[in-house]
Amino acid sequence: MTLITCPQCGNKTEVLIRGRCRECFFQNFAIAQLPRVIQARVCATCGARLSHGKWTDEYDMENIVLKTVEDNISIHKDANDVQVCINTKQITPYMYSAKVNVAAKVEEQTVTDELFCEVRLIRESCDMCSRISGGYFEGILQIRAVERTPTDREIEICLEIIEGIIHRMRAKGDRLAFITEKIRSKEGLDLYIGSVNFGRHVCKAITEELGGTYNESPSLFTQKDGKEIYRITFSVRLPKFMPGAIINTGTKKIIVKHMGKKLTGIDLTDSSRFIAAENQIESAKQVGHIKDAVYAVLVAEDEQELIILDPVTFRTVNVKKPPEFLTPENEEIPVIRIEEELFLLPSECKKINTLKG
Ligand SMILES: [Zn+2]
Ligand SMILES: [Zn+2]
Repeated sequence: MTLITCPQCGNKTEVLIRGRCRECFFQNFAIAQLPRVIQARVCATCGARLSHGKWTDEYDMENIVLKTVEDNISIHKDANDVQVCINTKQITPYMYSAKVNVAAKVEEQTVTDELFCEVRLIRESCDMCSRISGGYFEGILQIRAVERTPTDREIEICLEIIEGIIHRMRAKGDRLAFITEKIRSKEGLDLYIGSVNFGRHVCKAITEELGGTYNESPSLFTQKDGKEIYRITFSVRLPKFMPGAIINTGTKKIIVKHMGKKLTGIDLTDSSRFIAAENQIESAKQVGHIKDAVYAVLVAEDEQELIILDPVTFRTVNVKKPPEFLTPENEEIPVIRIEEELFLLPSECKKINTLKG
């Protein structure tokens, strides 16, 4: 085998790695590089971290330090099977130290290194928090109700739905899902919101869960330097009848499942499905709510009928037996009194979100 002379040290070698013998190659080889001092830019208000020019939600300081170190390690391009182990230690509330162990394969040889750095936390205001504190908003979302005003409980439920959306959108990295201001009025609730996209998600989720309808319209908000600035107004109208309401349509008593442009429900008398357009039930009135159901004792049953003990009058009442009726073990069945008449509560009612509580 011909031996080659290493141009750096003059020793004979079988192969050259990047123009040097193996010893010379590894002599000044740095598997990884890490600055001695690095800065972690963190939002003082929400705890987000600035990473590659983008603010991202992080909820844990340890994690912020770890990721900042990770972002700043540069690994040699010839390294394979790289393993990095980072240990951090808090020195002061705004300073951490980190020890980084790197192991990798380079030119068939295992190379390890130990690096140290200091992480300094720089507290500032992120894009979202500075927008919120500056009163920024892209749209106004109004929550109203048809032919009535939303109740406090309904507003509370809407806010819970919105919280869930903020959580989901933020988890996906959308930091414009925020509310700058909430104004409760006689008519309902006005929310100043961070983005149009967020507004649409809110409208969709509220009407899917509670019923009702929504629309959006741009309106001239202000003029700035001769330019017209528009804001989108979202209008959510909660339905006249919420899920779980029992209404009298004039001919039928219906349990409302969902009311959007149409009303879907269950007929209280025979558990059949009910669908009607808004104009077909214009004169309908709410006569009860499934959350007012009580348990009654089942006295007897035959093929066609059930005999139950009215919990108010203590008289026995005969009701038609539903097709798939299962006798409960404790012989108690949910009933509801509507306009002095006693009805069995259809089993499907369990699936209706009644906003109880
Ligand atoms: Zn050499
Ligand atoms: Zn922030």
